[in-house]
Formats: sequence, C-alpha cells, structure tokens
Amino acid sequence: MGKKRIYLSSPTMHGREQEFVQEAFDTNWIAPLGPNVTAFEQEMLAYTGAGYATALSAGTAAIHLALKLLNIGPGDVVFVSDLTFSATCNPIVYEGATPVFIDAEPDTWNMSPLALEKAFEKYPHPKAVLCAYLYGTPAQINEIMTICEKHHVPYIEDAAESLGSTYMGRHTGTFGKFGIYSFNGNKIITTSGGGMLVSDDEEAIKKALFLATQARDPARHYQHSQIGYNYRMSNVTAGIGRGQLLYMEEHKARKQAIYRQYQEAFADIPEISMNPLNPDGDANNWLSCMTIAKSSSMTPDEIMDALDAENIESRPIWKPMHEQPVFAECDFVPHNGDGSSVGSDIFARGLCLPSDIKNTVEDMERIIGIVRKCFGR
Ligand SMILES: *Cc1c(COP(=O)(O)O)cnc(C)c1O
Repeated sequence: MGKKRIYLSSPTMHGREQEFVQEAFDTNWIAPLGPNVTAFEQEMLAYTGAGYATALSAGTAAIHLALKLLNIGPGDVVFVSDLTFSATCNPIVYEGATPVFIDAEPDTWNMSPLALEKAFEKYPHPKAVLCAYLYGTPAQINEIMTICEKHHVPYIEDAAESLGSTYMGRHTGTFGKFGIYSFNGNKIITTSGGGMLVSDDEEAIKKALFLATQARDPARHYQHSQIGYNYRMSNVTAGIGRGQLLYMEEHKARKQAIYRQYQEAFADIPEISMNPLNPDGDANNWLSCMTIAKSSSMTPDEIMDALDAENIESRPIWKPMHEQPVFAECDFVPHNGDGSSVGSDIFARGLCLPSDIKNTVEDMERIIGIVRKCFGR
C-alpha cells in the first residue's frame, strides 16, 4: 500500500466558501462582476488596511496593471527582485520595459537595500522598484522605501506570497504606491485563481478597474480610446475568496506553527538553517524553507529525493531570474562586493519543506524524521 501523499501547500476549504458561491448561483451573478466581487474587495481592505482595491483574475494581472498605471513602457528600466517567481517580472517585459535584477540579501532573502543603492548608481532613473516578499517574509521595507523616496521612484510590493504578513505592525502590500496579492491555488488563501491590486490612490484604482474591464469609455455604444484587458475577477471565485478570508488568521497561525515545529525539530542539527524571518515583521510563513550549510555534503536534491521516495512533496527555492535563459540579456546587481550572488547561493543550498496546513502531527513527524535521517540523526 502506498504512503499517504503529503503536499507542499494545497488548498484548504472550510465549507463557508460554498455558501458564497451558492449565493452567486442563486442570484445568477455568474459574471466578472457582482456582489461577491465588491464585498471581497471591501473585506480585503478591512483586513489589510489598504485604501482601495480592484479584484482581478490573477496576481500577475495586478502587477501588470500597476506597471501600466505608472506609464511604464519601452526604454524604461524597472528594478525588480532577482530571487522570486517569474510572475514578478514577466509583466515588465509585457510592457517592453527592461528589468534590472536586484540581488537578495541574507537577512530576509528579499531585495538587498545595498544592491538597490548600487543599482541606482548604475541606472539613476528607473521608473519603479518592484519587490517580492519571499515565502511570506517582509523585506527591509523601511530601508528600501527610504532609497526609493530619495530617488523619487515609486515602490511596488509583490505581496503575492505574504498576505497576512506585517512589518512594523502594518500589512505588507500597504506600504508602496501599489500592492498586489494573489489567490492562486497554493497561496495562503485561494480562490482557485485570482489577484488584487491595492493602493491609497483612489483614482489609480478606478483606472485599474477601467483597464481590467476592456477600457470601455463612458458611452452607450462601445467606444474605446485605450487598449483594455479582460482581467476582472469573477463573482463566483470572489465567493470562494470571501469564505477563505474568514479563515485567514487561522491559516497564518497554522503556517507559523509549522515553521516553529521545523525550527525546533532541526535545532540540534547545525547543518540546517531555517529561512530567516524579519525581526521587524510578523511573517505568514507561507512556505517553510531550509538551507544546508556549505560544510555539509548533503544537497537539496538528495533531501527532495528522500522525501519524494516517501510520497512527500517538496520544492527547490525559486531559481534566480538572472540565471534564467529567458532573462540572459538582463543586467543583475549583486549584493556581495566580490560580485557573487546571494540569491544563487540560497538557491544552491535551499529547499521548500512541505507546509500544508492540513498536515497532521503524524505527517509532520514523518517529514521531520526523513530530513533528520538525511543528516544521520
Ligand atoms: C504566485 C506569485 C505571483 C503570481 O500570482 P498569480 O495569482 O499566480 O498570477 C507573483 N509573484 C509571486 C512572488 C508569486 O509567488
């Protein structure tokens, strides 16, 4: 008999989601608009403390619209996290702009303020700084925003992985000119797929709604003065989101407990370090990750193989963007003085551990036992 499958991070539904979806069916609001969409936006604003929101079909769409709203186009440079998922930077290329990848720093695994300063010396006039908060850990937001303000460059927060994380008591995604959230299938809460753009700029968020719904001018006939997109969230999926949001804090508490359990379980193994948490923040611990000390002969692949052999899902750290064939032509600004990349080092020595909130005590013991065994414990 095969061993029970343990997932990295799979959707956790509670039943309330179906009530909101049923309501959408009962009222025939099966469309990319409706009461669930509006209510989900309002409930997300109440939860995060952001000013205004537009619910969208994906987090990637939210990043794309943030760039559009900042008039980013051909010839423009955007400073973007190097150690992240490709969805963070793809929209820069959709608009014909040029990403310049900013290395990670060891303290949070996020954009290095030091490398960001260096990037400004090389490219004094980027159109935006776009930073992802990896695995739910907030970046050194104050340091990054101070640099952005000094250079009068807008800051965009890719909070796709960090919904519910706070920095100095405030929700990630509410600091910059724009914040984006994702409700993809494996995120901390999910609508199967979806995203949201937030900002304190009411006009910009209205414009986002306009662009996301085919940029139709206010006229009875179909008139368009701009190119639009079909990026709006559906009323059905927004219903799932409303139900999920009720359990957001519960999900966060479970994710944090998983992180602490790994941390305690590996405390006696000096070769293992958990992913860093920002002491100025409260991370949602979307995924718990570990790195293996340089002195160890173990590799992430060996640990992932050992887990896989027991039907347990794990995953490599995001491969840095400057190492991706598709971005081979793009510039990269390293954190280290010797030109070596912090992100490449984390990628080479790290992996994401199963962080599914449905994992039982026994599941966690199984995972921990396998990893410990890899280190001869
Ligand atoms: C998931 C994710 C996105 C994209 O969100 P989608 O809703 O899948 O489009 C963007 N950035 C990061 C860092 C992500 O992890």
